Amino acid sequence: MSKSKDTSVASHALPSYLDAEHLGPWGNYLQQVDRVTPYLGNLARWVETLKRPKRILVVDVPIELDNGTIAHFEGYRVQHNLSRGPGKGGVRFHQDVTLSEVMALSAWMSVKNAAVNVPYGGAKGGIRVDPRKLSMPELERLTRRYTSEIGMMIGPSKDIPAPDVNTNGQIMAWMMDTYSMNTGATSTGVVTGKPVDLGGSLGRVEATGRGVFTVGMEAAKLSGMNVQGAKVAVQGFGNVGGTAGKLFAEAGALIVAVQDHTGTIHNAKGIDVIALLAHVAKKGGVGGFAGAEKMEDSAFWGVTCDILIPAALESQITKDNAGKIKAKLVIEGANGPTTPEADDILTDKGVLVLPDVIANAGGVTVSYFEWVQDFSSFFWTEDEINARLVRIMQEAFAGVWAVAQEHKVTLRTATFIVACKRILHAREMRGLYP
Ligand code: NAD
Repeated sequence: MSKSKDTSVASHALPSYLDAEHLGPWGNYLQQVDRVTPYLGNLARWVETLKRPKRILVVDVPIELDNGTIAHFEGYRVQHNLSRGPGKGGVRFHQDVTLSEVMALSAWMSVKNAAVNVPYGGAKGGIRVDPRKLSMPELERLTRRYTSEIGMMIGPSKDIPAPDVNTNGQIMAWMMDTYSMNTGATSTGVVTGKPVDLGGSLGRVEATGRGVFTVGMEAAKLSGMNVQGAKVAVQGFGNVGGTAGKLFAEAGALIVAVQDHTGTIHNAKGIDVIALLAHVAKKGGVGGFAGAEKMEDSAFWGVTCDILIPAALESQITKDNAGKIKAKLVIEGANGPTTPEADDILTDKGVLVLPDVIANAGGVTVSYFEWVQDFSSFFWTEDEINARLVRIMQEAFAGVWAVAQEHKVTLRTATFIVACKRILHAREMRGLYP
């Protein structure tokens, strides 16, 4: 590929706020972009666009704790790319949130939204906080202050947050209310993943897990795997992992191992998923579940299974544990769960990896339906929503599968090819202003 002098100069320069030695998840994302660049043809001249977030906001979020002291938390909102539409992406509350992580998550949202062809750019937000240590009133104050601080960046046609790790419908309701109070008009379309009584969509809570299940079933069909009786291991049993596990169990698979932040459990005969979901709802995690044996956390990756669903956090499958994985199919419910080195190890072993940027796109797809319903104030039935979700996921997956076959590349690279071409084509058509 020939590059003009200016392009090559720019492509070597890292933004000054990044430390080249410690790029974290953003570094993983950059490697993924490098892998796709040779397939972008003439659009490759725009690829630098993908390597720099359009806009980054870091905010101080001070709140008064119940005991009267003042605590400060660091919050972020990153808009990675807005070429195809307003920003869209969740908000994460977690003690390990970093700017690098939010940047990577925002970029994966750009890719994901383009992969399923919903009319959004990519964005993401987060607060560096362990929300389990806050009371409900403290959590509400934190959410409202954060929403006010990022208020200049969000809006129904600018950037639309949604739930992610440790955020849920209640937090979206507070965000919607805060934004509405600040702007003087009830604005349901400013966030998605809201409670149904506040302009939320039926089917949104289960949408990501349903999408994981849908593409998993398609991949199983194409690779000749029988899901009936297949053994499944799930990391993370929250919104995504819990729903995906339930749907696979309903399809006849055996959920043999589950890991979350409270421990790892195992039952080779299959875990009663409904009982486990009830246990998690009551106790906050899978630890102490009576219907399975406790297992060492490190043994989780070597569990005998056919399907592995990482649905917790990023960088979980690494070069240190990828070699132990026995599954033939890995379905990435989480964002960024596999490092590039681990990706190569899995590919070399013949493991089929369904990448996050397509596998967990069901959530944003139904978020898009929610946003459309809010704008039109006309709400669809759950059957309509699920049918449209399944159709979009199946069509997007078929397109990615065909590109993977055509170029003999992994499904991750194929998804990036489809998505990056859409983003950069939009970028090119819009041109640079001024
Ligand atoms: P959640 O908060 O509902 O659940 C997170 C789960 O991860 C919990 O079971 C938690 O115990 C587990 N977990 C946390 N730390 C862990 C650790 N160190 N080891 C093992 N397990 C751990 O969050 P969620 O919405 O289900 O999100 C999970 C993943 O899916 C994230 O990567 C998120 O970005 C991604 N995702 C979520 C959505 C969505 O709609 N919620 C959409 C797309 C992608």
